[in-house]
Amino acid sequence: MKTHPLEALAAGKETFVPHPPYIPSPLETVKHFRLGVDAEYIAWLTFDTPNSAANVWNDTTLREFGICLEEIALKPDVRALIIRSAKDKITVAGADLKALRHSSVKKLERLIDLGQSTFNKLAGLPMPKLALIHGACVGGGFEMALACDVRIASDSDYTCVGLPETQLGLVPAWGGSTRLPRLIGLAKALEIIVSGKQLKAKDAKRLGLVDAVVPREYLENVARARIGSVQHTHRRREPLLLRKFIACRARKAVLAKTRGLYLAPLRAIEVVTRAPFVDPSKAMELEKHAILDLALTPETERLIDVFLRNEVASKKPWPRGVALPVHDVAVIGAGIMGAGIAHWLASRGHRVLMQDISTESLARGLSSIRDLLNEGVKRRASTHLQMRDTLDHILPDHSRAPLTHQQIVIEAATEDMALKKKIFADLATRTGANTILATNTSALSVTELAAAVPHPERVIGLHFFNPVHRMPLVEIITTMHTTDDVIATAVSFVQHLGKTPVVVKDSPGFIVNRILMPYLLEAALLHDSGVPVELIDEAMLEFGMPMGPMRLFDEIGLDVAAHVGRTMTDAFPDRLPKSETLDRMISDGKLGKKSGEGFYKHPQKATKHHWTEPDHHLMERVQERLVGLIRDEAHRCADEGIARSEADIELAMILGTGFPAFRALAAFGAPLLSGSRAREVTTLPRTA
Ligand code: NAD
Repeated sequence: MKTHPLEALAAGKETFVPHPPYIPSPLETVKHFRLGVDAEYIAWLTFDTPNSAANVWNDTTLREFGICLEEIALKPDVRALIIRSAKDKITVAGADLKALRHSSVKKLERLIDLGQSTFNKLAGLPMPKLALIHGACVGGGFEMALACDVRIASDSDYTCVGLPETQLGLVPAWGGSTRLPRLIGLAKALEIIVSGKQLKAKDAKRLGLVDAVVPREYLENVARARIGSVQHTHRRREPLLLRKFIACRARKAVLAKTRGLYLAPLRAIEVVTRAPFVDPSKAMELEKHAILDLALTPETERLIDVFLRNEVASKKPWPRGVALPVHDVAVIGAGIMGAGIAHWLASRGHRVLMQDISTESLARGLSSIRDLLNEGVKRRASTHLQMRDTLDHILPDHSRAPLTHQQIVIEAATEDMALKKKIFADLATRTGANTILATNTSALSVTELAAAVPHPERVIGLHFFNPVHRMPLVEIITTMHTTDDVIATAVSFVQHLGKTPVVVKDSPGFIVNRILMPYLLEAALLHDSGVPVELIDEAMLEFGMPMGPMRLFDEIGLDVAAHVGRTMTDAFPDRLPKSETLDRMISDGKLGKKSGEGFYKHPQKATKHHWTEPDHHLMERVQERLVGLIRDEAHRCADEGIARSEADIELAMILGTGFPAFRALAAFGAPLLSGSRAREVTTLPRTA
């Protein structure tokens, strides 16, 4: 008789043989994708990163994607593959930049290889492949879509496509530099890759990046209907001579714009004009070498760092307090800033009451808003309907209407403390109990203004920059009274406007004007001492600033700059230089662009330089002196603890003045360059 195995085991006659461990199939290990095949034998591959609003490519997601593709390749019945995202605003946001940062060459090379081989695997599948694009599909996300045969985009405002790698000091290296030129032609592809711009669905369709644009609800049905008519991508091949011409023209344009300070666009031109015309493995090598050369340079690391910091600042809520929703806003003053702010708020869906004591100002303000909107329609950035809608959101008002419905009132009246105090005292009487009272002052004390109202805890500074629709920064100025709820609401409000808030303690000039003013005034002083205007500007353009200080004076208005300068001089009397030329020009009515003449004549003549041969040595010294001042003042701001972190000071300067992101603003932690540095070179020779 046979013994029961358990009895045998108990009797010690038999050893227990366990089941072999359970090994899940590769597909069961996949966490970021769902794969299903429907009754029509269409495979649906859905990218859905758990507990996240975004999908990104990294080692894990690329491997899992590859596993899904292998699974599909094993199913001979599948007649099409449709790739989509389960997220509301993002298809694939690109590569995981956090993983890329501080990576070793080896790790980076592995990641590039993995991305290239995965997308090649996708392109090599025998059935038609369709990518459904709803929300952002950029960088590596769009490179995946380029490996498909058809791209169908939703017409949502969230949808955008592009290859923005060059903006981060990189080049598209997962096949994008090769596939895009083949799809839409070299000239158009170069423009998109070199500029790194992201396109809305309609523009993407016009340029051939996507095949169709439909409402989100129809994406899947349209994709099904398209399967039968999928043709393999037509390969474009420009002749060698034309390629050379296009490359040369693109290089010239980039050098004129960037002065060769940014390597990535130049490298992209090299790759994009070669890779599509060589065999596939060579093309991938070209892409890989370019990105490996660029990715680990300090400049690219800084660009990625600043990008990530900006992402955090523009999304992360204030750590304390409760952010209340903001629907209705009043703007006091319809001048340059008031109208600019009203336009931006209305275009973001806020109801805006724009008040001014002058009917002429209101009319001018409205007309400038209309001009801005018209320009947007012309550039196809918006439609007539959106323009109408924005205008419908703005109510101009000349009376002292009560402001009890508004959650925030932004004062943008003339820069005068006595006037602003009067306005604030008046606002306190006609606003609701919880209305936030904000000022757009450039440099006046928010604390002093707050003292003019019975509830100073509701007062805050919201410093927008000019022109509002272009400048991404808003400084949020807090006083010792401002509550966390008010700060949290202001931060969230600014973030919803699509701008980056930087919270700063009330202090003369806050961050940006505080650092910029000594630099500007010193530039004027240099001019007093005989250095030509053009040379000063040229020196700073060479450094990477988007505009020289003398031209910036003309743009801001010499009187406005001098006014801010006075506020700063009162606060720091021993530090700020005084320029005689500036005072003389103001009294002569040479106020800059608005008066037709400042340091330059406006509109400017075509001639660029007034000196024959720029004195490079002098330019270097000017640069050293002016940049030294910027760095000095940044250190002081850090030492005084005005901003929450040194990184915030840097971010504010990059976003508020265009300080080149690839350069370190200040080696924080190192000793101050000290005011002495600027002083020690005050005797620049007279050259004019
Ligand atoms: P502006 O002179 O163009 O406009 C000021 C407007 O305020 C005028 O339309 C005027 O009629 C109106 N005004 C005056 N008193 C008023 C009152 N009691 N009630 C309602 N409206 C009144 O000035 P701007 O350049 O728009 O500057 C406005 C504010 O923004 C200032 O505090 C300025 O420092 C600040 N700011 C200006 C810039 C810039 O580049 N212009 C940039 C950032 C911040």
